[in-house]
Amino acid sequence: MEERSLNFIEEIIENDLKTGKVSGVHTRFPPEPNGYLHIGHAASICLNFGLAQRYNGKCNLRFDDTNPSTEETEYVESIMNDVRWLGFEWDNLFYASDYFDTLYGYALKLIRKGLAYVDDMTAEEIAATKGDIGIPGKESPARNRSIQENLHLFEEMKAGKYKDGEKVLRARIDMAHPNLLMRDPILYRIKHAHHHRTGDKWCIYPMYDFAHGQSDSIEHITHSICTLEFIHHRPLYDWFIEQLEIFPSKQYEFARRSVSYMITSKRKLLQLVNEKVVSGWDDPRMPTISGMRRRGYTAASLRNFADTIGIAKRENLTDIALLEHCVREDLNKVAARAMAVIDPVKLVITNYESDGELLKAENNPEDDKAGYRDIPFGRELWIERDDFMEDPPKKYFRLGPGLKVRLKHAYIVECTGFDKDADGRVTTVYCQYFPDSKSGSDTSGIKVKGTIHWVNAATALTAEVRLYDRLFTVENPAAAEGSILDYINPESLTVQTAYIEPSLASSGDLDHFQFLRLGYFCTDRDSTPEKPVFNKTIGLKDSWAKEQKKA
Ligand code: ATP
Ligand code: MG
Repeated sequence: MEERSLNFIEEIIENDLKTGKVSGVHTRFPPEPNGYLHIGHAASICLNFGLAQRYNGKCNLRFDDTNPSTEETEYVESIMNDVRWLGFEWDNLFYASDYFDTLYGYALKLIRKGLAYVDDMTAEEIAATKGDIGIPGKESPARNRSIQENLHLFEEMKAGKYKDGEKVLRARIDMAHPNLLMRDPILYRIKHAHHHRTGDKWCIYPMYDFAHGQSDSIEHITHSICTLEFIHHRPLYDWFIEQLEIFPSKQYEFARRSVSYMITSKRKLLQLVNEKVVSGWDDPRMPTISGMRRRGYTAASLRNFADTIGIAKRENLTDIALLEHCVREDLNKVAARAMAVIDPVKLVITNYESDGELLKAENNPEDDKAGYRDIPFGRELWIERDDFMEDPPKKYFRLGPGLKVRLKHAYIVECTGFDKDADGRVTTVYCQYFPDSKSGSDTSGIKVKGTIHWVNAATALTAEVRLYDRLFTVENPAAAEGSILDYINPESLTVQTAYIEPSLASSGDLDHFQFLRLGYFCTDRDSTPEKPVFNKTIGLKDSWAKEQKKA
């Protein structure tokens, strides 16, 4: 691993190891399976699994499935798939629901210690009697029930004697505690609902606070890392562990990650899916891991991004340009080069007679091992419409009447004329080529400033290319007024037909390419040899790198 200064969690860990407070590092990634993972989760995965790797420890994947009504198997599978794709493997796979029996036992233990009681108030009544900052809460009349009565009522709750909301189990802590979460929090609620793993066995379900820390403890998690909004839950986390006398897991908080022009809330992402703003959770415009993967972002680039932003104690919006920079940096190394023309105009080389000439093209100048491929050349080519101008300004180093340009991997050509249709649109550009100017063996002595890409018309294949722009029109859609649906960029997807070199027909799902001068693309899963489909991952221009140079 590259040398950099330790972040605050690494400092804590190194200190804990040095002082013998822990004998090894054991972290966990605990998603609730109620949606697909997004860029913020990617950061959390890289952090938790990364720490385990760095300190030769372990990291568990634990599904936080204590809420029976939302979890779905589809989400469980997508989460496992995403973690693996990011390059990590869990040491253990657990479900919080595996601990329902143990947690029930813990609740009995608290009741027996006089530290929990069954309350007849509804959740709303409890909230209303919580008091406020500086104002103590009101004790429930049920607070002084006998241990026997509490055991009996809790047993009845479990047996299904009561309806949803009729009773709850609460901790008996302190209704005047300065931390409102410590004012007799709810531990169990009644919910007659089918659970995706435990079926109809339970009709009482533990609350997050009563499940999370204890699950950590059961798994002997040493460093339980969560986002900042749980900071006030930490005293409660510690209180349960202390009263139950179980393994002392410790909670640490870091700032939730958000990236400009992205949304990091599963609930809001679900809204985009449900309202059909996008084609699904893995729509390439989605900030989900599966969406970014389909868009062509690589696992290495996401890991590098997570590592670069590191962790923070305060929330801020990370510039999406940094993420895009990481994507380009990796794709530049791994993407095979190819040529495609998205907005074509015909180029005819009037003095070129031979047919079937094959030119040698390097697959990736950044990778010696990538080798070469043959690309067919010919008399008629497709070039990009904006590489020709009828009346070019100075310093336009592409084609125009009398101008010379190099055709990539091929020859220098000079423009001799062009045709237009009735609407004044250029239909054909005519050129002459210089036979002694072939790339690699150029003896022509002609100097040109520009090189353009092309595809041989006779052998070109057509492909669908999907060009993406930002999904949102504002930097921080989550913070914008109104609904996120008000800020959808109507031009976030454009579909075009392109001419591509024939070698691309055999590309497989997620193969990465740099289409010269156009950007990075990857093969979409909708692609077939008959109808290739490519997603534009990102353009070539790197605004982030430019900004860094200026700074
Ligand atoms: P959401 O609001 O999107 O549902 P969540 O926090 O409820 O997010 P979980 O499935 O409970 O989602 O999260 C699993 C883990 O990922 C938790 O440890 C959580 O702290 C972490 N996590 C979630 N969102 C972010 C984020 N934006 N940045 C960093 N970590 C995150
Ligand atoms: Mg959640």
